[in-house]
Amino acid sequence: MPTDQKRLSAYNAIADEVEKIVLFASQFPEISERLNLLRQGFMIMAVDENGFRSIHCTPTADLQRNLKIFLLFKGDTEVTNLPTVIKNCSRAHYFQPAHHITISMNTGETFRCLAFRFLHELGHALAAVKNGLAFSNKNPTPEHRTAEEMEIRTLDYKLMIEVGGPTYKSAAEKMALDLVRYHTQRQVPFLEGRGSALDFCFGSVQCLNVKKERDVLFQVLCEYLAADTHLPNPDHAKQLKLGMTAATMNWM
Ligand SMILES: [Zn+2]
Repeated sequence: MPTDQKRLSAYNAIADEVEKIVLFASQFPEISERLNLLRQGFMIMAVDENGFRSIHCTPTADLQRNLKIFLLFKGDTEVTNLPTVIKNCSRAHYFQPAHHITISMNTGETFRCLAFRFLHELGHALAAVKNGLAFSNKNPTPEHRTAEEMEIRTLDYKLMIEVGGPTYKSAAEKMALDLVRYHTQRQVPFLEGRGSALDFCFGSVQCLNVKKERDVLFQVLCEYLAADTHLPNPDHAKQLKLGMTAATMNWM
């Protein structure tokens, strides 16, 4: 099991990458709102056989009101009382009502990519606060969850275009066009290797499984870009994005 210091160092490495991503996010007020949520107070958690414990909290943090962040390392999955839903977290997840974000450190991804996932989950945390659902046992409807996920993924693809720069933008636009063609011709999209465009956003990786994950992520991001770019009617684009989101809810 990792030491508290290892957990804190990993969190700091992710937070450093969040700061670098945010440099490209000036046109997205939503990102500032997500960071303000962190500034209001958060706790970094560790886990042992006695349950979760805080290993770092900002001065204003309050267990009952503020966000909790848990980085899931390999050794953690051996803790018997860790909830299965957290053990099974394969990328990152926001848990309501506990108002808790888990980020898996077991994926082989770069800290920059983990920072992207963290920002995505902060979007869910912010939505839960705004909707009064954080620390509440009220569950959002499936339609509400889908709409929230669609909005967050839409911002994800726009943010990655800013972070990845012109080369990534060209690759994403090409992929979006190809996806329109694949769907029009009712073909299965060919994804292999396309996700390497995300190296411009996240840095490169060697692991084949991570490359495959990026192929899928790149497709997901470009499907939303394709809908917004190639459907002239914004309502149609929104409906298409909602349908895609509902079909792939577990992915992000
Ligand atoms: Zn999500």
